[in-house]
Amino acid sequence: MNAVLISDELNAKARAFTQRPRELLIGGSWRPAHSGETFEVIDPANGEVFAHAAAGDAADIDDAVKAARGAFEGAWGMSMPGFRARLLLKLADLIEANGDELGLLETLDNGMPWRMARMAATFGAAESLRYHAGWATKIGGETINLSVPGEWHAYTLREPVGVVGQIVPWNFPFVMAVAKIAAALTVGCTVVLKPAEQTPLSAIRLGELILQAGFPPGVVNIVTGLGQTAGRALVAHPDVNKIAFTGSTPVGKEILRACAGNLKRVTLELGGKSPVVIFPDADLGPATEVAARGIFMNTGQVCAAGSRLFVHEKVFDQVVDGVVAKAKALKLGAGIDAATDLGPVVSDKQRMRVNGYIRAGIEGGARVLTGGGEVAGPGYFVQPTVLADTTANMTVVREEIFGPVLCAMKFSDTDVDAIARMANDTEYGLAASIWTRDITVAHRLAKRIKAGSVRINTAGSVDAAMPLGGFKQSGWGRENGREGTEIYTEVKSVTVGLT
Ligand code: NAD
Repeated sequence: MNAVLISDELNAKARAFTQRPRELLIGGSWRPAHSGETFEVIDPANGEVFAHAAAGDAADIDDAVKAARGAFEGAWGMSMPGFRARLLLKLADLIEANGDELGLLETLDNGMPWRMARMAATFGAAESLRYHAGWATKIGGETINLSVPGEWHAYTLREPVGVVGQIVPWNFPFVMAVAKIAAALTVGCTVVLKPAEQTPLSAIRLGELILQAGFPPGVVNIVTGLGQTAGRALVAHPDVNKIAFTGSTPVGKEILRACAGNLKRVTLELGGKSPVVIFPDADLGPATEVAARGIFMNTGQVCAAGSRLFVHEKVFDQVVDGVVAKAKALKLGAGIDAATDLGPVVSDKQRMRVNGYIRAGIEGGARVLTGGGEVAGPGYFVQPTVLADTTANMTVVREEIFGPVLCAMKFSDTDVDAIARMANDTEYGLAASIWTRDITVAHRLAKRIKAGSVRINTAGSVDAAMPLGGFKQSGWGRENGREGTEIYTEVKSVTVGLT
């Protein structure tokens, strides 16, 4: 433990939290799973079990849905928007006040560097709550002018969709859980949250803060457990009105099929294979810096990671050499160590998966510019890797790796349509980034790229005000922004005859 970075007091607090039995939050109180089962929580920096969490299953999910339904049909369903906004703002303040501890739990659970985890908790999560709190008093229907003969008063209402099941992944567990509940709660829905089994701890601590903030019982229920049991039960539950899922595309497709049972509303935030296109006139310093950060941040476990780098042949060597130099300078280590740039990947399974892709790329003819080898344990570390001579048909270029692996490819075209075809040659469509000083080229390409978020001369950052989501197989619907609150509402048309 690096004493300069993390105080003994903070360390003791977080460790004490992990050593208490971690239970399910249902109807405003904590209790073990009906089965009494728990699952292990592993520190990816050393592979050691450091906590246990309750393994909720279908029976627990059923209780949680009943609690959420009770709250929705009760006072929460009729609550004043201002009341909901105040609770969200209070939760934001509590999160900020506990940001160091929340960050440390995230680091122990997920492996990410503590300074990043703390930033995600304090800035990302707290600001998301504050942003969404504003919508409580603003989201609403419209008056409509009708053209059918007669005299009318016609309007729409935006009503909360009801009980929402929210399923989140392990790559930014806390901020994703918070952003999801914020959007649902602001419009008056109630929630059953299912965190990823690899990273349950920050969501459990979130549950404690939710109670401390004064949210009524049943408004937010948190059921830790496996995707195959708790996750499936939530998706299949007949009294859940909507599922909001963030995770992999294959699981997203399975969820879509399972939601057909009672035609649940579904939004999906799925995988990506995002292109970064660098033109020869770009400001190459920032472009190189951001291309490296875009694939190595959080050890590449970022849905919008720029994993396909397209650089014009005139500046290819300069940019790629720069990215390689940055990769070589990254210090691998535990997230609790102040000097660490790159933490481990989340699990041994993920480490093997990423290494498998690297091997397949090399066997397929890719040239390793840096990395490419395996890192001995303990801990699930992966070398930051840059591959050149990759082609559009290789799995390493086509499939989402979710690790620190960049495929660098050259282009010589100047035709924007041809460049767009190259960037769009993927089944995903989550994000893209364009680097050029030519504003016409930048905007023409931005229009042609099939992705939910396009960034020009920046990596951009996720802001709760900006809609986020995917084209093609990267998802359904948008989170954040107005759109991200509307996905938790139903529109009702009301027509009053005045004659
Ligand atoms: P995953 O799909 O394996 O799991 C995500 C969540 O779904 C977990 O909570 C898991 O327990 C649950 N789950 C698994 N199987 C389930 C099932 N059959 N029914 C219901 N729930 C089930 O994904 P992951 O490996 O945890 O996360 C990585 C993926 O998430 C990547 O593909 C990444 O791109 C994607 N992601 C997307 C975004 C976005 O905004 N588009 C953001 C972050 C991560």
